Amino acid sequence: MTDSQRVLVLGGGIGGQVAATRLKQKLGRDARVTLVERSETFVFAPSLLWLMVGKRTPATISRNYSSFSRRGIEVVHATVTAIDSAASAVETETGRLEYDYLVIALGAALDPDRIPGLAEHTHHPYDLASAERLRDALAGFQGGQVTVAIASLPYKCPAAPYETAMLIDGYLRRRGLRAKSRIEMYTPEPLPLPVAGPVAGHSVAAELGRRDISFHPRSQLEAVEPGALRISGESIAHDLAVVIPPHRPPDVVAQSGLGGPGGWIAVDRSTLRARPGNVYSIGDNTAIPLENGMMLPKAGVFAHAEAEVVAENIARRIGGDLSETAFDGHGTCFLETGGGKAGLARGDFYASPLPDVSMYRPGRSWHAAKIGFEQYWLRRLL
Ligand SMILES: Cc1cc2nc3c(=O)[nH]c(=O)nc-3n(C[C@H](O)[C@H](O)[C@H](O)COP(=O)(O)OP(=O)(O)OC[C@H]3O[C@@H](n4cnc5c(N)ncnc54)[C@H](O)[C@@H]3O)c2cc1C
Repeated sequence: MTDSQRVLVLGGGIGGQVAATRLKQKLGRDARVTLVERSETFVFAPSLLWLMVGKRTPATISRNYSSFSRRGIEVVHATVTAIDSAASAVETETGRLEYDYLVIALGAALDPDRIPGLAEHTHHPYDLASAERLRDALAGFQGGQVTVAIASLPYKCPAAPYETAMLIDGYLRRRGLRAKSRIEMYTPEPLPLPVAGPVAGHSVAAELGRRDISFHPRSQLEAVEPGALRISGESIAHDLAVVIPPHRPPDVVAQSGLGGPGGWIAVDRSTLRARPGNVYSIGDNTAIPLENGMMLPKAGVFAHAEAEVVAENIARRIGGDLSETAFDGHGTCFLETGGGKAGLARGDFYASPLPDVSMYRPGRSWHAAKIGFEQYWLRRLL
């Protein structure tokens, strides 16, 4: 083993934090682990939905990166501007960084400008500033038509738009405004969570139905006008529109030469290795096709599990052991349904010929478990 091994982790979100932490724990002084992250503050995205309905503040779901430096991880706050895998180097706003091993965990970028009017006339809870604006709009809402729509696929967290609709339902009930409101949900998908199969999809659709949320599958958002969305040829007026914006790969990923379908990075689905062999890609910036023709969902649970596998394999290689552990496609997702309850989807997304996913009915214990998941992230990992 040599002390000159340089491991560079790009992106300090869910995948990057786990990768950097585990690499340092496993390698100690035998490697220099550097985490490159443009933002000074990490926001735990799943909690944005609670912030939207007034149950969290920005401070309670945000952390800085000081604990990483204390653990011996070098943190560079800079934007990555180019990945040159032929030269085993990365360009950042503050200089060039060379590596022996690279882990790319730059996530998915939001692309609201792809649809004219989207940014001006609609809300979403997918980043902190937008979730705060939606919280304020909900606080001022006095009843009327709420439209929740998914602009396009893929998007982060298959459950989050459905949780958004159900949490808004619960919020309006709490404020005594539900009888004065209609909630309608539109998606291009044939069912909620289509990747998880029809049982999961019908069970989420039934939860929407129980809350009197009208569900419109196979509905394509075409244009945004002030006060109305044009969806599949129809103009649908609203008093409040919540639209999950289009997503795209970060520019630096799309321009890296590592891009596969749609510009997302193609990897070996077991080892998460991209080409060349000292480059790994995890989390939302990665595209992993499944046997049902769909992609592995963009979700923190997968970014986390992939990071564990990649850290272990890089540590083994640096230690001279060429055996590899594999990411097995298992994942668990809590689905907030409002009123202090959550359901759970859990399964094997690599199962053949179809993902094997079980749904657990909403209850208080899954909601409590989701809070435990949040606190693990915000208190233990960081
Ligand atoms: C509202 C909402 C609810 C969600 N709920 C859940 C849930 O309940 N369960 C679940 O599993 N998942 C959930 N997710 C999805 C989850 O947050 C993401 O899938 C997960 O964060 C992906 O991890 P990642 O490391 O790939 O990317 P990210 O966590 O997005 O991290 C990427 C990081 O890269 C940084 N970055 C990007 N470009 C650059 C650059 N050029 N230079 C430097 N830094 C850069 C970003 O600042 C960011 O910190 C939710 C997401 C949202 C928005």
